[in-house]
Amino acid sequence: MQPANVHQLRIGDFILTTLLDAQMEASFALPQNIDEDEARRLHAESRRPTPPRITFNVYLLETGQQKILIDTGLGGLAGDAGPYLLDNLKALGLAPADIDTVLITHVHPDHVGGLIDAEDNPVFPQATVLVPGGELDYWGGEIPDDASEAQQRQFQAAHRVIAAVGSQMQHLEGTEVLPGITRVPLPGHTPDHSGYRVESGHDRILLWTDIVHMPQIQFPCPDAGVAFDTDVAQARETRKAIMAELAESQELVGGHHLDFPGIGYVVTDGEGYRFLPHVWQPTV
Ligand SMILES: [Zn+2]
Ligand SMILES: [Zn+2]
Repeated sequence: MQPANVHQLRIGDFILTTLLDAQMEASFALPQNIDEDEARRLHAESRRPTPPRITFNVYLLETGQQKILIDTGLGGLAGDAGPYLLDNLKALGLAPADIDTVLITHVHPDHVGGLIDAEDNPVFPQATVLVPGGELDYWGGEIPDDASEAQQRQFQAAHRVIAAVGSQMQHLEGTEVLPGITRVPLPGHTPDHSGYRVESGHDRILLWTDIVHMPQIQFPCPDAGVAFDTDVAQARETRKAIMAELAESQELVGGHHLDFPGIGYVVTDGEGYRFLPHVWQPTV
């Protein structure tokens, strides 16, 4: 593991830090709404090594008043691919107890897994954990009869996390979250999948979370979803709408599965889009 696994960016008066949590191998069975041959072709065009890999980022927002973690990564589910979140916080001089708020985008295991340790103890004991209401209701509820095996595992992981840290959790309704942070509903990947827009001074960024998992495939082909989209058709509509909006507005975007440091711009390119990574700067 190379040591350069945190990345800081100033957003007005705030500091947004990307923390790499893990990078794991994926398969070409993951993309949906696209022929496997076409997915393989786009991957090859990107000059990435095969098999493909997926990046897992976590974001930390320091506002001056608060230290807010936006999702928590895989935790114990990372296997031997991580998790690096706590080591990376330590590199910043932060202990888990320094985090006062955890903002959850959706209740998938790679976003809430880091809330608990291997013994199901809360990892961020001082934090209020804000969860989109529809996510908590859906994933905290009964497992649907038609749930696939993978979905059943996601529900079981969610139930375990909710049992362990439910007393720290609060339902998030509406769009106002905290000063400078608004919730942007982006449903489809999961029922109440939510992005967060951070604004301070003249700067802003949309953290769109799981709109894209395989950038080399889904930017050129925004129709392509992934096997863990709860509603593949709705996820596709949401993805296409938000990509079009960001290409038009030229707003900065961050994503939990965009390649580290997971920050950049969306631009149109032919029938699809291209991702322009933010250029690293030596000073924050
Ligand atoms: Zn997800
Ligand atoms: Zn995810």
